[in-house]
Formats: sequence, C-alpha cells, structure tokens
Amino acid sequence: MSNRETNTDVILIGAGIMSATLGTLLKELVPEWNIKVFEKLGKPGEESSNEWNNAGTGHAALCELNYTVEKPDGSIDISKAININEQFQVSMQFWSHLVNRKLIQKPEEFIMPLPHMSLVQGEKNVNFLKKRFEALSKNPLFQGMEFSEDTEKLLEWIPLILEGRKMDEPIAATKIDSGTDVNFGALTRILFDHLKTKNVDVLYGHGVNDLKRASDGSWELKIKNIDSGTVERHKAKFVFIGGGGGSLHLLQKSGIPEGKHIGGFPVSGIFMVCNNPKVIEQHHAKVYGKAKVGAPPMSVPHLDTRFINNKKSLLFGPFAGFSPKFLKTGSMFDLITSVKPDNILTMLAAGVKEMSLTKYLIQQVMLSKEQRMDELREFIPNAKSEDWDLVVAGQRVQVIKDTEAGGKGTLQFGTEVVTGANGTIAALLGASPGASTAVHVMLEIISKCFPDRMKEWEPKIKEMIPSYGLSLMENPDLLRKIHQSTAESLGLKKKEPVFKDEKTTETVY
Ligand SMILES: Cc1cc2nc3c(=O)[nH]c(=O)nc-3n(C[C@H](O)[C@H](O)[C@H](O)COP(=O)(O)OP(=O)(O)OC[C@H]3O[C@@H](n4cnc5c(N)ncnc54)[C@H](O)[C@@H]3O)c2cc1C
Repeated sequence: MSNRETNTDVILIGAGIMSATLGTLLKELVPEWNIKVFEKLGKPGEESSNEWNNAGTGHAALCELNYTVEKPDGSIDISKAININEQFQVSMQFWSHLVNRKLIQKPEEFIMPLPHMSLVQGEKNVNFLKKRFEALSKNPLFQGMEFSEDTEKLLEWIPLILEGRKMDEPIAATKIDSGTDVNFGALTRILFDHLKTKNVDVLYGHGVNDLKRASDGSWELKIKNIDSGTVERHKAKFVFIGGGGGSLHLLQKSGIPEGKHIGGFPVSGIFMVCNNPKVIEQHHAKVYGKAKVGAPPMSVPHLDTRFINNKKSLLFGPFAGFSPKFLKTGSMFDLITSVKPDNILTMLAAGVKEMSLTKYLIQQVMLSKEQRMDELREFIPNAKSEDWDLVVAGQRVQVIKDTEAGGKGTLQFGTEVVTGANGTIAALLGASPGASTAVHVMLEIISKCFPDRMKEWEPKIKEMIPSYGLSLMENPDLLRKIHQSTAESLGLKKKEPVFKDEKTTETVY
C-alpha cells in the first residue's frame, strides 16, 4: 500500500458524460478550483456513454411515445414531453456556448441534425398519434412537427420501412426535422480533452474502492491503481459519484442516510447493426415505434440512422436483456452485493411487483437471431438476416425505491440525484433520459450542493445558458432566438425549417 495522500477541492468518480459535464461546468464557474477525476478503465466514455453502448438520441421528446400518455378521458398529457424538451434545450445551449468559446472545435464530431419520427400502425394507435400530434404541435417547443397518414408521403419520408409492407391496417407517422443524433462517446472524449487543458488531473486505471467522511468534513477516498496494485488515499471537499452503474455501490459505501433504502436492477441493451451500405443509404431518420405490452419504456423499438466515426450507420433496437452486472465491465456479483439490510425489503417488494418485467426480460434473453429479425421486419419488411449483426450495448441500472405513489419497491425509469452530508457529496443513479439531459442534471447538483455560491454564479450560468431559470415554452421569442443560435453554432442550421411565420404561415429557414 502506498502512503500517497492528496488533498483537492473536487473529486469526480468516473469518466462518463456526467463527470465530463460537471467538471466542465465547474471549470467555467470557478476556474481556480482544483479538480481530480478517477476512472477505473483506460479511457473516458467507455461505459454507457460510449457511442456503441447507447442509442445516441438527443432526447427532446420529439419522437418517444412513452413521454406522452393518454389520460382516461382520452386527452394526451404532454407535461413530461415538455419537461424533457426544456432540459434538452439546456444541453444544446451549453454545448453551443462551448463551441462559441472555441472550447469545442468541431461540433459535427458529436452532433448531427436528423429527423425524429414516430411511426404506428393500427386504428387505435393512429388515433393516439394524431391526438399526440395535435397536442404537441400547438406548443412552441414542438413547432415544425408534421403528421401524415398518406402512404405516398410516408414512402417519401421512410422508403425502407414502407417498401414491401402489408397495408391491411391504417398507418401514420409524425416527423420533425429539428431532431439530433448525438455521439455521447465523442462528446465525453472532447470534454475530457478540454478538461486536461484546464489542469484537471484525470487518472485512468484508478478504481475507487471506498469513501468515508473525515473528521474535518471532507471525504477520504481509497483508490486502487489498477496497474501497480497500490492503494492511494485522496481527500476532497466535494465528491461526485458519476460511476454510472457503479454509482449505487459507492453511494452505499459513503454511508449517507440519503443513500439508504435504494436498490438497483440492471437491464442490458442489445442492438442490431446493419452491415450493408446500400440498406444504410435508404434511411435517414430516427423512427420510434410503440413499446410492446409488458415491455419497459426503455425498450421501445427504434430504427436509427447514426453517425459514428464519421460514418453513417443504421441500428435497430434496443432489445432488453438481463445480466447481474451493473456495468458492462462489471462483476457477476454486482446485483447480489447491492442488496443490504436497509434495502432488502425494498428489493424483495420490487421482485414481487415486477414479475412481468422479469418474465419479459427472460423472453428477450432467449430470443434467437431469427426472432430478433422478425421484430426488425416489423420496421423493415424486406430485411435480410445476413445484412444485420448483433452488438451488445450498455447496462442501465434502474433505481428501485419506496415511493408514496407506487409503494414499497417501486421501479423508477428516470434519473435520480442523491445529495447528502451538507452538500459535500452527490451521486447520480438511473439512466433515462440520461446523457441528453446531463447539463440540466449537473446544474441541479450544483444548485443543491453549492446553494451559497448560486447568487455569485448565476450571471455566468445565464451567460452560458440564456434560458436558465426560465420556461422556454412560456417565452417563445427567447425560444426562437435560442433555436436559431444553437442551430447555427452546432452546425444544424441547414436542416432546421422549424418556425412558422405567424403572418404568412410560410416556413422560415
Ligand atoms: C442501451 C442504452 C441506450 C441508451 N440510449 C440513450 C439515448 O439514446 N440518449 C441518451 O441521452 N441516453 C441514452 N442512454 C443513457 C446514457 O447512456 C447514460 O445516461 C449516460 O451515458 C450515463 O453517463 P454516466 O457518466 O453517468 O455513466 P457512464 O458513461 O457509464 O460512466 C461511468 C464511468 O464510471 C466508471 N466507474 C464506475 N465505477 C467506478 C469506480 N468505482 N471507480 C472509478 N471509476 C468507476 C466507469 O468505468 C465508467 O467509465 C442509454 C443507455 C443505454 C444503456
């Protein structure tokens, strides 16, 4: 064991998109703070944030049907969609700020414009989509959305999906051109390159084994240098647990009361990737369908054009799967070792409640390639098995906790921020909507953990994110300005026919 001991202002655990975002925000707000990052793998963005481990959707609720629920009276509740869209606008503004300040040179390396579409078949689903379109398209956040039941129009939008399709049921789609494909792996790497130029010490091959609060109120971390096998001790005034699936174990080790009675349940993702350039060329959109009955919201099937390594790709999925690991590179004992005396009842209650999810996951794991091809053929009727390969994506650890609405052991599908010890520690759990809302979530951590500094930092936050603290939906002029400026900075301009001019009703580019 080494006696090396260091003292710093901030330690970020994990080199994923969340630590990258928090580190970048803090360096903008307090450049003089000393920040260290410890990552157990050899590079940044290798777990869920990696481009092959997530779907790369800039989640703005433009196409994901699970963000708009049909109420018992038949109307559509769009409040969740509004929330997610507003949060994505925060990310877009921060990324634009980094580009405008030349801290990011080539935005096309991580973000590309791509139409977002929802596609449904069957009368009931078509009626739902129409009502959803009517509710959303009235809202300034979703302006530019189109709806069509016309097969000629759909053939123009999505030829690959229409060709060879049986038209024995009504079909409809919505399309909005202001959607994006985001390479979160590339963005993570870009942000870590930037952090290095700001004197942030990023130590790869360093796994955090333990953390405890010292008598002076700071945190002491026991960290293993994986190459040398030595154990180092590092102290910090503030710690962010950004370990992705690894966060729950670290939160439990911190011993803070806010981390008790929380469990985690891992759900794996599997995509099919197209290896035929001729097929890839025939599609240009992210097309989200409806989740199957009993399927969890994160396994809504979608057919996505992706931009990975400067190349256009085509992915379908995700299929859900089960592995007890909390990280792709995790241990088979992750699930069992996360069960503690304080969360065992919560976990057991979830086990009883979520029998249908367990059944669904087992069915998904057992699917053969041909069965997966059959699901793909619901999107591309003429898909050929030899054109598609399977890729294993990342692990999502869904939070399980006791809630007033759901009772004991309720499975959560969103992200959960846990802070404690007078704001000296914060952890991020859960996975959805995930990376797209990283800036909003990290700002939430900053405001919860540094309330005394917020007055001083607010002007700088507003300079970076002009809509900070405001609802864009209620400020359509600001929204218009922000849409135009972010599209320009991020190179999305040519494909953004978003706003209708109220007087002429012509689309303005
Ligand atoms: C299948 C799938 C599809 C998804 N699709 C989308 C999408 O379309 N859009 C979207 O916005 N989001 C999506 N997400 C969610 C998104 O990928 C995650 O929310 C996001 O990447 C999480 O970032 P993170 O930094 O918290 O975690 P990660 O990227 O997982 O990074 C955590 C890091 O911490 C390290 N670490 C863990 N434990 C330790 C330790 N003890 N010591 C040191 N280092 C440690 C890990 O090695 C890892 O590098 C998807 C996720 C999955 C799995």
